[in-house]
Amino acid sequence: MAEEIKYRTCNLCEAICGLEITVEDGVVSKIRGDKEDVFSKGHICPKAVALKDLYEDPDRLRYPLRKVDGKWERMEWEDAFEYVADRLVSIQKQHGDNAVGIYQGNPSIHNLGTTLFSPNFVRSLKTTNRFSATSVDQLGHHLAAEFMFGHMNKIPVPDIDRTDFWVIMGGNPIISNGSLMTAPDVSGRLKAIQTRGGKVITIDPRRTETAERADEHVFIRPGSDVYLLLAVIREIIARDEIRLGHLADIIDTAQIEQIRELVDPYTVDLAVAKTGIPKETIDSLITGYISAKRAVWYGRLGVSANRYGGLCHWAINTLNILTGHFDTEGGAMFTSPAVDIANRKSRTPKFNRWQSRVSGLPETGGELPSGVMVEEILTPGEGQIRAMVTSCGNPVLSVPNGNKLDEAFDSLEFMVSIDIYLNETTRHADVILPPATGLEVPHYPVAFHNLAVRNTANFSEPTMPKAEGARYDYEIFLGLQQAIEKRTLSEEEIEKKATYYQMNPELLLNMGLSAGNTGADLSQLKANPHGIDLGPLRSNLKEKILTNSGKIDLMPSIYIDQLQSLTQIEEDQDTYLLIGRRHLRSNNSWLHNSQRMVKGPVRCTALLHPDDAQTLALSDGETITVSSDVGQVSLPVEISDEMMPGTVSIPHGWGHHRDGIQMSVAKAHAGVSMNDLIDNKIVDTLSGVSVISGIPVQISAGSAA
Ligand code: SF4
Repeated sequence: MAEEIKYRTCNLCEAICGLEITVEDGVVSKIRGDKEDVFSKGHICPKAVALKDLYEDPDRLRYPLRKVDGKWERMEWEDAFEYVADRLVSIQKQHGDNAVGIYQGNPSIHNLGTTLFSPNFVRSLKTTNRFSATSVDQLGHHLAAEFMFGHMNKIPVPDIDRTDFWVIMGGNPIISNGSLMTAPDVSGRLKAIQTRGGKVITIDPRRTETAERADEHVFIRPGSDVYLLLAVIREIIARDEIRLGHLADIIDTAQIEQIRELVDPYTVDLAVAKTGIPKETIDSLITGYISAKRAVWYGRLGVSANRYGGLCHWAINTLNILTGHFDTEGGAMFTSPAVDIANRKSRTPKFNRWQSRVSGLPETGGELPSGVMVEEILTPGEGQIRAMVTSCGNPVLSVPNGNKLDEAFDSLEFMVSIDIYLNETTRHADVILPPATGLEVPHYPVAFHNLAVRNTANFSEPTMPKAEGARYDYEIFLGLQQAIEKRTLSEEEIEKKATYYQMNPELLLNMGLSAGNTGADLSQLKANPHGIDLGPLRSNLKEKILTNSGKIDLMPSIYIDQLQSLTQIEEDQDTYLLIGRRHLRSNNSWLHNSQRMVKGPVRCTALLHPDDAQTLALSDGETITVSSDVGQVSLPVEISDEMMPGTVSIPHGWGHHRDGIQMSVAKAHAGVSMNDLIDNKIVDTLSGVSVISGIPVQISAGSAA
């Protein structure tokens, strides 16, 4: 029996764990944590073995398909590229460039070929109707980074390996394995904080799995985070606890005075009224955070995806900066990655350079909020989207108002999907182009080394061969781009692109490495299959800041309107507030076609506090219907005191009940999609991002008719 041991970085989530994979006679027989991996040191989660399931999945598509009279037929790759280019370009010639839209799902950033080659393909479409998963849950982080530090990807990460006081707001990193914070083994790192005498505090409407391991958990009313954050800033200033430290000469103190005036109405008493957190809890939280030598405040999805998510991330950066917990050990810090994706100054902020046609919502970083896709497809008029490209995403399940988007996709003149599954979204496509993926591709987690709690670099060779005749993702993007540009560019312009058309991920990656922070090249990475350790995070903001002034913009003007108006907002108190949740064996809608990831008790349940269940006369396991202004879903209720009274939680990524999908395991564990309850028109007025956390809903016993 021929046995080989191979090493690679897991690409299923942001934690980038090192894997040791045993291959016997050409079959993956074991997947374990790589104990010698310089970053993860042997840690993995149960999802890692799903890489084998993905590789072997009989439902996976392996060659191009075209829908003819409602039936799927096989296509040759080159024919598919030409056909897709023909359809897209002819629709654009007839209706304008913006008649084609593109949505890129979250796995885009988890695949090296897509990360490196999809941007130029998107540019070749020349459309402003670009959407991605970024605007579902994390745009607030990027906006704050753009305006405060000069680059959308200059996002600070919590230095959890050296902090003594970690506030986690609206995040559940023990289950997500870290998000916009790449940190394999969050459990171990959290325990280490406690072992060295530090403290971890979670703030969340649900007592999450992370909260269970924290020193303290604070319930907060969904969507009210901003009032707590502004009260903290107000108290820092009122208590005269501003410590700018080494950043003093890149901070304009007049802006601190401006902040003092703007946050003055946001008292602790107001925060108590809005958040439901007792006054003494807020006081002790602020005192603990201010007085800790090394502390960091971290906010994630619950904070990002609410009505004031954009403002919340300005507030989190600001309170970390004002207290000296920024760009210092144990605070919020920036990485020094081997491939740096936040190293180019932009002359003007990439925000609001164009607006969506129907609702006038702003562009951020070259894309519009995904919530407007529905109306941009369904509303007639000049600029209406008539054709869509989707790439590694399932927006019918992952974008607000999924049911409506499902209808909208059905109305398109043409759709092409780059995806490995025939799923709830791709079933609407006319052509599906499935790339080689997972174990079959080389990997370097470009984005996640930029967001990691330690500087490391790790390149993975393909572990398994791709199917005969299959194409890599980058080959698909290059094939489509070339076929489109053949129809839209002059011969001279095409000639200039000849070298690019011959590129591959290794060549581009090597260029990125040579321009990065370490000077490492690909051959060095290849010689170190367990990765290269580049050391802990280090203070670098003064040398790396990218604002035009060379200073932190502590009070960007875009936030001022919201800061001046929040006190007048009255929230409706008469409904339940819906929040999402995630499970360790799920990753959004990925992995639901792996039997070992979905087996066991039903996970798609509505969590509800016992007092609320009693009021509604519900018993555990009973079917309930949860309704909002845009939809309703029926699912079992799970009664648990981990919920804050008045809130209900449904996990996202489920809802595999639709006809025409080819995912046998997922279909057998269908569940419902919480996104069917989310009104894409309720948005963060700053960024235009649809609100997905804290949605008002009604609950009733029984199944919807
Ligand atoms: S934590 Fe994430 S990166 Fe690590 S094994 Fe699990 S899915 Fe893979």
